[in-house]
Amino acid sequence: MPILFGPVLSRRLGRSLGIDLVFRKVCSMDCLYCEVGRTTYYTSERKPYISLEKIREALEQAKEIANTYDVLTITGSGEPTLNIHFEEAVHLAKAMIDKPIAVLTNSTLVHERSVREALARVDFVLASLDSAREKSFRLVNRPVAAVKLDLIIEGLSALRQEMEGELWLEVLFVKGLNDTPEDISALKSAIDYIKPHRVQLNTVVRPPAYPMARPLSLEELEAIKQRLSGKAEIISGEKRGAILEKPLTLTELSEWLINYLSRRPADLEELAFVFGEAKDKLLSLLNKLQDEGKVTKVYHEGKVYFRA
Ligand code: SF4
Repeated sequence: MPILFGPVLSRRLGRSLGIDLVFRKVCSMDCLYCEVGRTTYYTSERKPYISLEKIREALEQAKEIANTYDVLTITGSGEPTLNIHFEEAVHLAKAMIDKPIAVLTNSTLVHERSVREALARVDFVLASLDSAREKSFRLVNRPVAAVKLDLIIEGLSALRQEMEGELWLEVLFVKGLNDTPEDISALKSAIDYIKPHRVQLNTVVRPPAYPMARPLSLEELEAIKQRLSGKAEIISGEKRGAILEKPLTLTELSEWLINYLSRRPADLEELAFVFGEAKDKLLSLLNKLQDEGKVTKVYHEGKVYFRA
């Protein structure tokens, strides 16, 4: 699979070109809500999951198409900082790409000095913190034993002080697990301590890795936002779009669909929005891909989603 992805339109980042530093699914957590799927390579060990040579090649390509996106996002179908080359990847990206750099991280390695120093140099760090209570953190995120919540909170606080760009904290709520009054009050204390530039609230809007993960309603998210003194913003309805050079052949559209659906499940409505194609055309293509075993249907909250 190519390690460059997109560009896709994101409300938070604009036109974003993604670069994956780990393949599906290398992660230090196995979150109940993960939209990529269950963790198959469960580890906190840093390794060259994708070689530096491949990363450099992808950055060369990204440099050539720099006029097609607004931000380069370092991510992965798992946790990108687990790649031992993460620091070098940030260094190369900063040197080669004349665009803002963003990183998506689950925060589990933010306490490591070299990782934090690299994160501090980028323009936007979108870091996850779903709970500030040990019990709900372990229930929702299911981290490897070596991961310690207090180190994450300390690491995020240190990162905020060292950041040259902005630290955005994303909190994803799973109904009944990390949304109790005790959870919100602990979270508020952690947020007050970390002082991120932005706090973004999300819930289980897509089919989760584990069906027991249920979403909060918009009203429930609003109530939490108020308890967090209204400082947070709700991002659960965020729409993405693909930036495509049209017209696409059916083969090109199939490749895009598989690429998109391998990173997150999506319903027909979203795919029609993302790809700017008629629903009946997409549905017949999805049925064909399903017959070929490349796409499957999943059900979540009464809706049908497709996943590659
Ligand atoms: S949501 Fe992120 S941190 Fe959690 S399992 Fe999926 S990839 Fe890993």
